[in-house]
Amino acid sequence: MIYLDNAATTKTAPEVVEAMLPYFSEQFGNPSAIYSLGSAAKKAVNRAKRTIAAAIGAKQEEIYFTAGGTEADNWALKAAVEAYESRGKHIITTKIEHHAVLHTCEYLERRGYEITYLDVDSEGLVDPEALEAAIRPDTILISVMFANNEIGTIEPIGEIGAIAKEHGILFHTDAVQVFGQIPIDVEGLHIDMLSASGHKMNGPKGIGFLYIRSGLKLRSFIHGGAQERNRRAGTENVPGIVGLEAATVRALGMLEEKSAKETELRDYLIERIEKEIPYCRLNGHRTKRLPGNVNFSFLYVEGESILIMLDMKGICASSGSACTSGALDPSHVLLALGLKHEEAHGSLRLTLSEENTKEELDYVVEALKETVGKLRAMSPLYEDFIRKGAEPDK
Ligand code: PLP
Repeated sequence: MIYLDNAATTKTAPEVVEAMLPYFSEQFGNPSAIYSLGSAAKKAVNRAKRTIAAAIGAKQEEIYFTAGGTEADNWALKAAVEAYESRGKHIITTKIEHHAVLHTCEYLERRGYEITYLDVDSEGLVDPEALEAAIRPDTILISVMFANNEIGTIEPIGEIGAIAKEHGILFHTDAVQVFGQIPIDVEGLHIDMLSASGHKMNGPKGIGFLYIRSGLKLRSFIHGGAQERNRRAGTENVPGIVGLEAATVRALGMLEEKSAKETELRDYLIERIEKEIPYCRLNGHRTKRLPGNVNFSFLYVEGESILIMLDMKGICASSGSACTSGALDPSHVLLALGLKHEEAHGSLRLTLSEENTKEELDYVVEALKETVGKLRAMSPLYEDFIRKGAEPDK
């Protein structure tokens, strides 16, 4: 199997599993318990907080564990608007956020908040000037993702953070695709809240965190016990937290090496596809791009058909369409770039890890050439397109 869907989830690293195992067995204590078995678990949780805080230039008490990126996004948005409601009800976000943010915004709209969904350019970049122009006296929150999960475009987060700070507006970023992949400094980037997730960086599933700058008066999201300083109730997922810490240590230790290797593989794959498969379009920014992200649209083919045929050749990838109630909806991200529906439907996302090799990518390119060729050969639209004078080898 060739796994090229690392933006969807990653393999839990062996050292992460090893670090977690004792917390299922001999170290099974509840961190809230007074006896030493409990305090050992509490110590592990606090140590993980220190490690993760240090990784983003934050303080231990600014890290709150959650059940993943979705919960962190929900908490950040819902709690921030509730806390700052007396100042206004306007939120600024973008059209290309993950559904964890977009659907939360839609929920908030139904509760009377007004949302500005910023456009992006054809490469997926948010324009900081347009963002500044969208600020109103009643704007209370800006939420812009650090990098997009589909097209890999990395947003100008530092510039956006500086604008938010200058206007005294809270700034949240969804860094789920970024934490553990590229360095983050919440101070330098003026980030007030940041969401991250374990399973996108070789940690376990079902664990993530929300960074909340100290001084922000965000209420509890989940009510119950006094865990997480009364802000997120529920017995801590100690094995998950320990696993997230181990994944953080691992990621930081190999950050540069991993990024260099993935960037090289990414650019190799992009170059070969562009050269060898006619009528394709690279989606996302060419250089302001996550190291492992490759996203193409192929004219006159369906992304879903490519996926099925690649799967038969042992390749795991992803497409830019989502299946909702049996119908395929083209990706909102690709539509926001200005792609037509049929272009968005013909898209394929390949997301690499440092474990992939050039040989694997060579196999993938050959498989893709064959697949796209076969699908186009069955397409009357493609036949017509060629007949009308398009050169097939362009
Ligand atoms: N935000 C982004 C950008 C993501 O890519 C994802 C996962 O696909 C999430 C949020 C949700 O994270 P989780 O799966 O940990 O809930």
